[in-house]
Amino acid sequence: MSTRMNMPNVFTLKGILKHTSQKGYAVGAFSARYTPMIRSILRAGQRCASPVIVQISQKEINKYQVAIDKFSDEFYTAIIEEGIDIPIALHLDHTKDFAVIERAIEADFTSVMIDASNNPLEGNIAITREVVRYAHDRGVSVEAELGRISTTDFIETDSDGQLYTDPREAKIFIEETGADALAVSVGTAHGPYEGKQPNIDYRRLQAIKAAVNVPLVLHGASGVPADMIMRAIHLDGGGVSKVNIATDLEAALLKSLGYEASVTDAQLSALDNEILNKAAEAVEETVRQKIERFLGSQGHAADFDHIRGERE
Ligand SMILES: [Zn+2]
Repeated sequence: MSTRMNMPNVFTLKGILKHTSQKGYAVGAFSARYTPMIRSILRAGQRCASPVIVQISQKEINKYQVAIDKFSDEFYTAIIEEGIDIPIALHLDHTKDFAVIERAIEADFTSVMIDASNNPLEGNIAITREVVRYAHDRGVSVEAELGRISTTDFIETDSDGQLYTDPREAKIFIEETGADALAVSVGTAHGPYEGKQPNIDYRRLQAIKAAVNVPLVLHGASGVPADMIMRAIHLDGGGVSKVNIATDLEAALLKSLGYEASVTDAQLSALDNEILNKAAEAVEETVRQKIERFLGSQGHAADFDHIRGERE
């Protein structure tokens, strides 16, 4: 572990989700996709006095041609340069390859997601358990997925078709793997919904929450109406603690630039400062709206005052 991970406001996933169930809010996990957008996420969190998670997935790393080291360096540099003192975590979203997980942990990510959900239960348990052992030895949290979250754009994962999470399997899965957070499949999908209606199976979500003792993660929140997500956060007995938001951030960025399609990290980084600032402001505003409209995490940076420096 390097010294920059010892910054008192840098937490693991386990640490940053600690107060969510008890205090009734969720922490947003925002996919920056482009290195210069990391600052926008941090600034929005700072403005709202809210904990935030900055993340990128294996597919995004490939599609946007992002270097893991550069992404991490920008995260830690921005904290210092922008005077960021809200609780934050650096998370590797959906990843299938152990080598990418190793690289992220070496680059001081505080949390990783192993997505072995395309395997049968036994295989998913075996792969996840191995990652948990490796990550925990290095002081890093692990999010795992059970069931399959479908996708419309294949950016985050390549699973098609949805397989809802079974609450009884969830209990076994968490007991057997020791994962710190569980991504559940309860009706949301990755990517833009484009006419299809998102649907959340709240009964199932409640049953999963009752069966496991770790925070639950809702993926594919872009395009889901705010009141649906709020209901998933505020379920009796506790709801989801982490909500992943990716598509909406990039949509705001591209719109502000008048672009029709994604570019690479290098192409975006090469833009004039004035143009880049406009895009950064659009992303910051989108993050702020998510925090205030449904996550409810504004002001909750203060929950961490007594555990600063504890990491988890
Ligand atoms: Zn996801």
